[in-house]
Amino acid sequence: MTVRVGVIGAGMIGQDHIRRISRVLTGGAVVAVNDVDAARAGQVAAGLPGAVVHATAQDLIGDGDVDAVLVASWGPAHEEQVLAAIGAGKPVFCEKPLAPSSGACLRIVDAEVAHGRRCVQVGFMRRYDAGYQAMKAALEDGSIGAPLLMHCAHRNPSVPPYGFTTEMIISDSAVHEIDLVRWLFGEEVVAARIFKPRRSGKAAAGLHDPLIVQLEMASGVLVDDEVFVNAGYGYDVRGEVVCESGTVALADVGEVTLSASGRRGGRVPVDWRDRFVRAYDAELQDWLIAVAAGTSTGPSAWDGLAAAAVTDSCLQALRTDQRIPVSLPERPDFYAKAQS
Ligand code: NAP
Repeated sequence: MTVRVGVIGAGMIGQDHIRRISRVLTGGAVVAVNDVDAARAGQVAAGLPGAVVHATAQDLIGDGDVDAVLVASWGPAHEEQVLAAIGAGKPVFCEKPLAPSSGACLRIVDAEVAHGRRCVQVGFMRRYDAGYQAMKAALEDGSIGAPLLMHCAHRNPSVPPYGFTTEMIISDSAVHEIDLVRWLFGEEVVAARIFKPRRSGKAAAGLHDPLIVQLEMASGVLVDDEVFVNAGYGYDVRGEVVCESGTVALADVGEVTLSASGRRGGRVPVDWRDRFVRAYDAELQDWLIAVAAGTSTGPSAWDGLAAAAVTDSCLQALRTDQRIPVSLPERPDFYAKAQS
């Protein structure tokens, strides 16, 4: 079966997902596109044989030739579009964040539970990264004992000088580690704190870069996450879990190690698309397979809600310099504990 996909939001990641569905993955075809910028939607659809442009997201969701919906619009539009897809009974892949507030995410969770079956997958692609999957396997193997703490680093080369706020260091960047540690340790984050190191002179006025995000897991595992969005030298994501009798760390991702002129080294990815290209491929392939099979297996609407709740606590911690507990409702039985 070929899953006929309608894409809402033909911006940077929307176009990247269209490319992978059309040219890299199997089992899917993009048949419809919508964007608030109709000209952009038209340009993108022109490169897709047989694809149509819809004037509104609602029209695309209601198109009988669209089997499944991919939401890659900007965050504030996600809630309405995901709720409409659930209402139409169509599987929906939604880029992170599921919605910008935990209240909006809860409305999506409630709608999906009322619908009676899972149809939402959220774009937390790090769960599909081979390095993190090997790290999770090493932890579950038990040979290095119980995890005690984790060090993370999330460094971007730069962010635009205008429009990128200190809050976005948490809601846009650290949210990936927030989801990752919930999945890696199989438990919820219970509290957050933010530390503000010396501010980089390369950061735009008003941007406090870098930050240290500290997350407390339910078991007591403590996570520190350095998030530095103007690190300058490349896109560098690191992770090391310290356990009772060993540690497990992400390996360097360069394809080769070059030794010359008395030096040895590798390549630093240029950006997040470069670093996680295979993870993005794997998450969308997984989604297409699940849609074709009539199931939903990846990060769920519950995971989207949990990440939003932790983000809320981090943002409050940023404002108050306090340790802020995470407030999360009881998880409905509807959502399995372990997600792939
Ligand atoms: P982008 O380049 O600004 O693309 C968003 C597109 O959606 C733009 O073409 C925008 O049009 C359009 N749009 C906005 N509101 C819409 C609406 N109501 N209906 C239809 N189209 C709408 O942004 P992006 O970087 O692709 O990000 C899109 C989403 O993906 C965000 O939620 C972002 O957080 C997420 N993302 C995830 C990852 C990841 O690692 N998983 C990476 C990057 C982005 P205008 O430009 O005219 O507003």
